Amino acid sequence: MHRQAFKYVYGPVPSRRLGRSLGVDLVPHKTCTYDCIYCQLGKTTKKTIMRREYVPLNQLLAEINQKLKTGCSPDYITLAGSGEPTLYAKIGELIDKLKKRTKKPVAVITNGSLLWDPAVQDALLQADLVIPSLDAGDADTFGYVNRPHGKIHFDKMVDGLIGFRKKYHKKLWLEVFLLSGITAIDAEVIKIAAISKEIAPDKIQLNTVARPPAEVFAVPVNELQMTKFAKRFGKNTEIIINFRRHTRLSGFTASSADVLNLISRRPCSLYDIANGLSIAHNEAVKILGHLEGKNLIETHLKGNSTFYVSAK
Ligand code: SF4
Repeated sequence: MHRQAFKYVYGPVPSRRLGRSLGVDLVPHKTCTYDCIYCQLGKTTKKTIMRREYVPLNQLLAEINQKLKTGCSPDYITLAGSGEPTLYAKIGELIDKLKKRTKKPVAVITNGSLLWDPAVQDALLQADLVIPSLDAGDADTFGYVNRPHGKIHFDKMVDGLIGFRKKYHKKLWLEVFLLSGITAIDAEVIKIAAISKEIAPDKIQLNTVARPPAEVFAVPVNELQMTKFAKRFGKNTEIIINFRRHTRLSGFTASSADVLNLISRRPCSLYDIANGLSIAHNEAVKILGHLEGKNLIETHLKGNSTFYVSAK
């Protein structure tokens, strides 16, 4: 049977936060307001704050519809992908249409840089879950870690997070990405924790480097340290270290295109691929072998783990 290759929809991917998440890419690869040193997608190629309909809305909706018809049953439809999703000018309309079309919850994973904009705030109000980021406690560290667009200033970004929370009464989880020797130090963590308190999210999720980062000096924090820092953020704080295991969905098998689609978004281990696509490990190995034979993928080593990426 011919399997459709999807351009904007990928996965379901294994998400440490969302279980099996059906990703939707709203902007071209690395179109972002930031150029984070820890970004697993590499360096930002288009740093912008220009909100546009980067992808035709009807094509996005058609693909999501098509994907859901294949029998995949994600825990979330996640608007994230390979850039900053709030740069998509029709994100509000997209969420609105998804809510009318499916009962699957819609999550938005955003760097939070544009949440000061009332249009962005209003656009996200219908999402079931919003996960913005806060990676720094002051302007200097913000500049060093997130390398934002020149028009995004730390205070404005923080005001946006606080202001959005006041308007948005559904689930809001704040992601804090800690980096060894940079933000994973007491003085910085205390400042980030104080701002987090003002934002008042339902949960704080501490994250660190798990995949090859954009810069070699973005180094992960060990579990012991993460546990120590988690205490600074209070009781609604969790450390993201793994994702839930899922059982295989009957009738859903993956094709080479599914695997390629998944790893073209971010580096994945064999475990990520097998679990994200709900396929057996040997099936994933077989598909990877096929893609390797055609020189369509490359492998990267990080520590003891092998990550697969698409050969571009
Ligand atoms: S981590 Fe997210 S916010 Fe940072 S550069 Fe990458 S895509 Fe943009």
